[in-house]
Amino acid sequence: MLFHSTNGKTQGVTFPTAIENGLADDGGLFMPANMPSLPAAFFRNIPEMSLQEIGYVVCNTLLGDFLSSEAIKSIVDDALDFPVPLRKTGEGDNLYVLELFHGPTLSFKDAGARFMSRLLPALFPDTARRTVILATSGDSGGALADSFSDSPSTRVIVLFPRGELSRQQVAMFCNRPNVTAVEVGGTFDDCQTLVKQVLVDKELNAAVPLTSGNSINLARQFPSIIYYFHAYARAMEMSPDSGKVVISVPCGNLGNLAAALMAKKMGLPVARFIGANNANDTFVEYLQTGGLRPRRALMTLARAMDVGNPSNLARIIDLYGGDLESLRKDVVGVAFSDREIVQTIREVYERDGYLLGPQSATAYRALRGNLLPGETGVAMATGHPAKFPQAMMEAVGHTTPPPPQLDGLNLLSLPAVKIPPAKSALSRLILRNQP
Ligand SMILES: *Cc1c(COP(=O)(O)O)cnc(C)c1O
Repeated sequence: MLFHSTNGKTQGVTFPTAIENGLADDGGLFMPANMPSLPAAFFRNIPEMSLQEIGYVVCNTLLGDFLSSEAIKSIVDDALDFPVPLRKTGEGDNLYVLELFHGPTLSFKDAGARFMSRLLPALFPDTARRTVILATSGDSGGALADSFSDSPSTRVIVLFPRGELSRQQVAMFCNRPNVTAVEVGGTFDDCQTLVKQVLVDKELNAAVPLTSGNSINLARQFPSIIYYFHAYARAMEMSPDSGKVVISVPCGNLGNLAAALMAKKMGLPVARFIGANNANDTFVEYLQTGGLRPRRALMTLARAMDVGNPSNLARIIDLYGGDLESLRKDVVGVAFSDREIVQTIREVYERDGYLLGPQSATAYRALRGNLLPGETGVAMATGHPAKFPQAMMEAVGHTTPPPPQLDGLNLLSLPAVKIPPAKSALSRLILRNQP
């Protein structure tokens, strides 16, 4: 399998090159030239398969040209070594939540980050030192810092927007020996733009080779594909005669939804997906109008979805060859205000005693209004509620007991280098503290 750029100029690239560069030379995102299909027998057996077994088959299909089966098995087993349970909610027989937040840093980004940290040494055993750079809207920073904590040869540079993350989130990537935390005087989109600018700077990369740690890098984005097969498998396992499965995804940078649609192209027999936005509804607007209007992100309670210019929209457009009509057949878009998100958290808590994180609540609400009789709905619960205390306080007046993953975090001292949203400042910083 070969890869091309969503900007069309770069073609015929191998997986290792796509991973090493993160972004194509022409500034586009790498995409598989075509998505391979999984055989019908796989879908018949899938309700009996574990997450790791499913992950192995999916990754072997995608990456078998570049890695041995043994290597793929060990990466998958090690990366996905935490539970991802499907929970039934108290609302009817057909509504489920898939909890993707039981990894070491409590968000679905653990899977991609852990996969990437194990994939890099398997693909490039000889590279002595490496720099992974990323922009975080909250959860990626912690996930990458944790995943690379056992690889001292990798330096991780995390850019985060000033004043937008909770202390828990910042604490997860500060105070780590091989992580440089960089507070940018700007938004998440500014951070993301800076990362893209340094990634395509040839001179800088000749001095310090950089790899993207965001979902623009397929090493991070691909593993989310596994979750959709798992969601389908668990739904079929729980209710074997359930009708069609509908999966709702809370969207920010659209890496997760792009993975969902890649799974569909690989044959996943779901009826459709729902792409849920908060007030930052660039994607929902695109679905409605076909127009792409990137804008400054608004700050909401579902912070991990506060993206005004979602990178992975380019992948989704590429996957559908720009055919908006066929994309609309596979995805319905819905957007909710903070008030609606808070109301949903409160309603579900009062009814079931179950706390949804703000992102998960957005996906859950979108599902509720969009199921036909006989359909089974799964909302992707992407983040643990304990990471979003502000939304919890507003919704139910208290937070949730912190899971053990949050023990021992130093919330008092959060050292970070401060820079303005300027490429020159970031380049200087990269050159100054080389690994
Ligand atoms: C990153 C994140 C999202 C958004 O995922 P994208 O792939 O960027 O669309 C949603 N929820 C949580 C908890 C996240 O951390």
